[in-house]
Amino acid sequence: MVATPAWPPKSLPRLYVEQRLEAGASLIVEGTYLGAVLRLGPGDRVKLFDDATGEWLAAIVEAGKKRATLTVIERLREREAVPDLWLLFAPVKRGRIDWLVEKATELGVHRLQPVTTQRTIVERMNLERLRAHAIEAAEQCERTALPLIAEPLKLGAVLNDWPRDRALWFADEAGGEALRPEPGPAAILIGPEGGFTDEERAAIRALPQARAISLGPRILRADTAALAAVALWMARAGDWE
Ligand code: SAM
Repeated sequence: MVATPAWPPKSLPRLYVEQRLEAGASLIVEGTYLGAVLRLGPGDRVKLFDDATGEWLAAIVEAGKKRATLTVIERLREREAVPDLWLLFAPVKRGRIDWLVEKATELGVHRLQPVTTQRTIVERMNLERLRAHAIEAAEQCERTALPLIAEPLKLGAVLNDWPRDRALWFADEAGGEALRPEPGPAAILIGPEGGFTDEERAAIRALPQARAISLGPRILRADTAALAAVALWMARAGDWE
């Protein structure tokens, strides 16, 4: 028997929109993507998500060179339940940080929190650019929720205000236990390219919610370490089962 193709086909273009979606709503998508780049026209279908109400099927009413008008048809999926994992990382340079945001979004992280440490080299970050990378990654990986990209905080402030019920898995290149998370709110903390200072390491370890973890015998780049730890957590306590 011939399998019935799923409708709508998975390959439909998928877009994040700021406007809250509902059946029958009409909306305008600015930019050249739908009309000039994909060459879509009236009647063509796309999928939309708004980070609030899930994923929707929509039809193009008109697609011009600069914008397209769409009408929302029906909801395809509810907004996903995002595993409650934060990723705290010391900013790394452009290119690497874009990669980190893209991959953390694909892996399902809930919140991305840049943290400045004593050895942080990159001080300035363009959060708008990072958000654009997160949106693009969410569009292609079928997420219906965007990760939150928080304003950078100093490590001391992060530790002072640490939530009582959130486990903090701190990746320590000097050694620690294997990451074996229990269910519940959690965060992973990755150091800068130059590593944590001994003073910072002691301050983190003093937090009752913090547990130092090892990511193996090799010293990983900060972005590799972040993704390795997120993957381990997702496989054991996230939504990969
Ligand atoms: N201090 C080191 C140095 O400069 O040679 C390297 C720091 S490493 C590039 C950046 C961060 O990745 C570390 O602070 C740590 O959070 C994480 N990391 C890298 N390899 C790790 C490992 N094998 N175990 C645990 N964490 C690791």
